[in-house]
Amino acid sequence: MKFSTKAIHVGQEADPTTGATIVPIYQTSTYTQDAVGKHKGFDYSRTVNPTRVALEKQLASLEDAAHASAFSSGMAATAAVLNLLSAGDHVVVSDDLYGGTYRLFSRVLERYGLEFTYVDLSDLAAVRGAIRPSTKMIWIETPTNPMLKLVDIAAVAALRPAGAVVAVDNTFATPFFQRPLALGADVVVHSTTKYIGGHSDVVGGVAMTSERAIHETIKFHQNSVGGVPGPFDAWLVMRGAKTLALRMREHERNAQAVAEFLAGHGKVESVHYPGLPTHPQYELAKRQMSGFGGMLSFTLRVPEARAMEFAAGLRYFSLAESLGGVESLICHPARMTHGTIPKEDRERRGVTDGLLRLSVGIEDVDDLIDDLRSALDAL
Ligand SMILES: *Cc1c(COP(=O)(O)O)cnc(C)c1O
Repeated sequence: MKFSTKAIHVGQEADPTTGATIVPIYQTSTYTQDAVGKHKGFDYSRTVNPTRVALEKQLASLEDAAHASAFSSGMAATAAVLNLLSAGDHVVVSDDLYGGTYRLFSRVLERYGLEFTYVDLSDLAAVRGAIRPSTKMIWIETPTNPMLKLVDIAAVAALRPAGAVVAVDNTFATPFFQRPLALGADVVVHSTTKYIGGHSDVVGGVAMTSERAIHETIKFHQNSVGGVPGPFDAWLVMRGAKTLALRMREHERNAQAVAEFLAGHGKVESVHYPGLPTHPQYELAKRQMSGFGGMLSFTLRVPEARAMEFAAGLRYFSLAESLGGVESLICHPARMTHGTIPKEDRERRGVTDGLLRLSVGIEDVDDLIDDLRSALDAL
């Protein structure tokens, strides 16, 4: 079965009791048993819920994973993957990381005795140098946020010490454009809040793997910690995921056109988009991804205050955090998504005060470019 067909059919069988074509929202916390312990496989909704099960089957099929566990947010999914580790274990992490993941690692999990080393994962010698006898996980984010740098998943996975888990946050690329498990990763996580949900109306997450032991442990923590999505949220993510292929093709087409427009404009200093031949890892992008996605960032040749005015003055790009919805968004990473990262660290990674990030939506691209052009001309 091909991608779009799986998105629409896997886990989406007609409801056995009523024939409802669409999986119902099983808004129930518990299930009536025929006799003690004799039930239809469902006992309590933190542990298992039919709407959530349908979502998990659908998403696993899209990532070509044997198993998926759905969570109430991307951070809950990330935390559940980190639950694979114990105090004293060491993790090698991308130094260009989603701000919330950095906060979870540095402010929460370090207190529980996990150790983290942040390195530029595109520098394989640095990765090798960071690995210790206690290294039990390598955490990859690619493309990175907001610099759109790439990490060679296969090359990093090949450096994995025996017994260590390679995890990839695949939120930016989505399974439509990138399959980390096929490149040697053990676990993939997504914030389904973003492209998979796709309509900026739900917060969710998922962790996927084809390794049974890893799945059992994640599932155990999903139930023990309890960061599960409610049935309605699971249903919204499932509905969004059905059109993932359609939307991603359109996001990419628009992002490519916007990136080319910005790169050709005199007031733009630099554009970061893996689909531009000027991107330093364009060859890797073509090899590792089947498309370049809908995210890009750029710097204007104007002072920071003007860049912020520009961001607030667009008509179709809403000034907002988050990404991956059908509507276009703009954000100022230094003051918004990456505000918790110390300024020095931030600037070392290229997240300067003049940097702006776009989540290019699926509006008509002529309107998007006109919007950007008039705001640039007014600068
Ligand atoms: C948004 C995001 C997360 C966190 O997901 P939530 O659903 O907001 O908890 C993690 N990683 C990346 C790359 C994200 O963009």
